Amino acid sequence: MRLSRTATTRRPLIMSDGNGLAEALLGLPGFRVLAVIESDVELVVTVETTGGAVGCHRCGVRAEAQDRMEVEVRDLACFGRPVRLVWRKRRWRCVDLDCDARTWTESSSAVSARQVLTRRAGQEACRQVGMNARPVAGLARELGVCWWTVMDAVAEHGTPLVEDPDRVGPVRHLGVDETSFLAATPERSTVYVTGLVDLQRRRIIDLVEGNSAADLRRWTGSADDQWLAGIEVVAADLAESFRAGLSPGLDHARRVADPFHVVRVGNRCLDKVRRRVQQETLGHRGRKADPLYRIRKLLLSGAERLDERGNQRLLLGLRVGDPADEVLGAWLAKESVRDVYLAENPTQAAVLLDKAIAACRADDVEEIRSLGITLASWRTEILAHHDTGASNGPTEGLNLCVKKVKRCGHGFRNFDNYRLRVLLHAGGVTWPSRRHPPRLRERSPQSNA
Ligand SMILES: [Zn+2]
Repeated sequence: MRLSRTATTRRPLIMSDGNGLAEALLGLPGFRVLAVIESDVELVVTVETTGGAVGCHRCGVRAEAQDRMEVEVRDLACFGRPVRLVWRKRRWRCVDLDCDARTWTESSSAVSARQVLTRRAGQEACRQVGMNARPVAGLARELGVCWWTVMDAVAEHGTPLVEDPDRVGPVRHLGVDETSFLAATPERSTVYVTGLVDLQRRRIIDLVEGNSAADLRRWTGSADDQWLAGIEVVAADLAESFRAGLSPGLDHARRVADPFHVVRVGNRCLDKVRRRVQQETLGHRGRKADPLYRIRKLLLSGAERLDERGNQRLLLGLRVGDPADEVLGAWLAKESVRDVYLAENPTQAAVLLDKAIAACRADDVEEIRSLGITLASWRTEILAHHDTGASNGPTEGLNLCVKKVKRCGHGFRNFDNYRLRVLLHAGGVTWPSRRHPPRLRERSPQSNA
């Protein structure tokens, strides 16, 4: 064994006997270490296999060693230093002149053919990018490979985990929610993806490109019929495209309008009226000192959350900025929507919702009438929340995970990569188990303070 350093350091290395020591550090069964060279930036470890004689894979005749070729791959870092593994790969030759096999090189399960990373380094890269949502570019720099090498490793090791039929399992409460995927540019409008969520186990089942009825129908069409039949409740926002897309695949399931989105419809109506009144009374968009602009946040918060001072400010703002009481009307409409969710039982909720719908539809303000129409059209779905208790609330945490993946990738262009990484991070993937080493020092270190 040769152990050497480049000329930049003066420290002499102490040689000990052991090939065994080097192999124990390497930890690749079937390989022996021939040389270790340390440079400023990496550790170069030259290895070869320990295997003896082999037979020809065609005719079975004992093969003859022809020569060796060097293959360089990246391995896991060693004591904080990146490692370049130089494998002196043996080339075999069949001695039988009639055999077609001629020559071939040995192979190992630790290093796949034509790969730049060892198998274990590829698995670790996949775990870092998938489980920990680390950026591919950073990992590539750390390992000393290109972006594509890492992404290929994520795809190679991650795809089987994501496609594992046991990952999803039976789902009773399904959540459907859209998120933006690509921001709008001068050439195209925003591109959305639709996330499908297991609301009870809080994991993302799948991502579908697009947010149209056809996109959703494509997904339900490809899903297993029996699995779909097990879904009892579907929670979604108030989008006609979702309502249409869930049919016919999920016609049997109870549809629930997600409370957060229902309340948001009321908030949006209020915002719309406030902006219009603002424009009509002052002739411009909201500015810092404008009475309605100053109370825009107070208007949107729930009445029960306002303290005395908040109430005073709200009333004052309305008195000054809302001469025809239009904003006040929209505020009352918004509160009547919120009240539906304060109801104690489904019957009470139905009464409150019907009251809100009737009041909105009889209003003089067009935006409020339109809110009434929306509420009426989603009446069944809104009230279904009170029977089933289902909402997309549990997915909020998942949306944070999705955003984390998106941010760490600095945006995505390739939907398949995006889907893979989101599902690896938030899809309830079972990672290959890794045993934890025993913990050293159970107590906190003593302090002298
Ligand atoms: Zn042969």
